[in-house]
Amino acid sequence: MELSEDELVAAIRAVVSSDSPGVIVGVGDDAAVVEPRAGSTVLTTDLLIEGVHFERGLISPRDLGAKAISVNVSDIAAMGASPRYALASLALPSEIDAAWVIELYGGIRRACDEYALSLVGGDLSRADRVLISVMVLGEVAHGRAVTREGARVGDAVVVTGALGAAAAGLALSAASAPVLSAALSAGWARELLDALARPVARVGEGTTLAQCGVTAMMDLSDGLAKDLSRLCLASGVGARVRLADLPITDAVREAAAVLELDPLTLATSGGEDYELLATIAPAEVEPARERLRERFGVTLTQIGDILEGGGLVAVDADGIESPLEPRGWDHFAG
Ligand SMILES: [Mg+2]
Repeated sequence: MELSEDELVAAIRAVVSSDSPGVIVGVGDDAAVVEPRAGSTVLTTDLLIEGVHFERGLISPRDLGAKAISVNVSDIAAMGASPRYALASLALPSEIDAAWVIELYGGIRRACDEYALSLVGGDLSRADRVLISVMVLGEVAHGRAVTREGARVGDAVVVTGALGAAAAGLALSAASAPVLSAALSAGWARELLDALARPVARVGEGTTLAQCGVTAMMDLSDGLAKDLSRLCLASGVGARVRLADLPITDAVREAAAVLELDPLTLATSGGEDYELLATIAPAEVEPARERLRERFGVTLTQIGDILEGGGLVAVDADGIESPLEPRGWDHFAG
């Protein structure tokens, strides 16, 4: 499909345009105009660069577009806020055809609809590789944003969902064709590849955890060890993680066995989980767990507790303690 720049912009506009509450002027003018509601405005932005954050051959344009929105929405969710508006800018090499671009915007649109988010603008440019820059604006009741700074000594450390699936998916996608096809026919590979390509931001879970009184919260993008160390540093505390309590799915264990990886390494150092990591008073863990299960069918697992001082300690199944190195997943490690 060959389209001029203006034709492409018109085609994109047709894919993304919608009437949304609060949007006074949407896509197409010099700037968007939106009507704020009461409360605080929460802003975030994230950059996805081909060759750094994704490989064009390993993800469909539709999934890529949706993922660009989801990873930003995840940061809004981590503040206990709700997403409202998005701006999406795209730079493209000249060899990319219009159909690919329209599919990408289809994915952006799908994700915006899923999170009740309005795409109100963006920009398009040439570059030597694909680059997607998304900015999301969210809202939270005044004074209710949950930061990384509030963890207190004695708090429980909790995570939503399970850990290591996207990292296992990434390792699997780099495996040889026979290994990958055997894994796909065995049935457990699909959920891992989906975890990598189609992350889901925990928006309702984030606002619910905020209501449940979490003292600090963040989303897991760079691996549990690295992200927990950031939360601890911001709060001026340390943490102990019980490795036997980490939520790890059977699929991650299957992948680890086949690929000769340690499932605990996938769970502690694997990136792109987009689960929520929070700290909360021990007495509040059970009520919060019950609410997440009831409302979303999502698990909340206590994986450790907050200690005095700095640093992370891992306790293995035999009760032996060792330092938990804040080592995140390396996109280039292969
Ligand atoms: Mg984050």
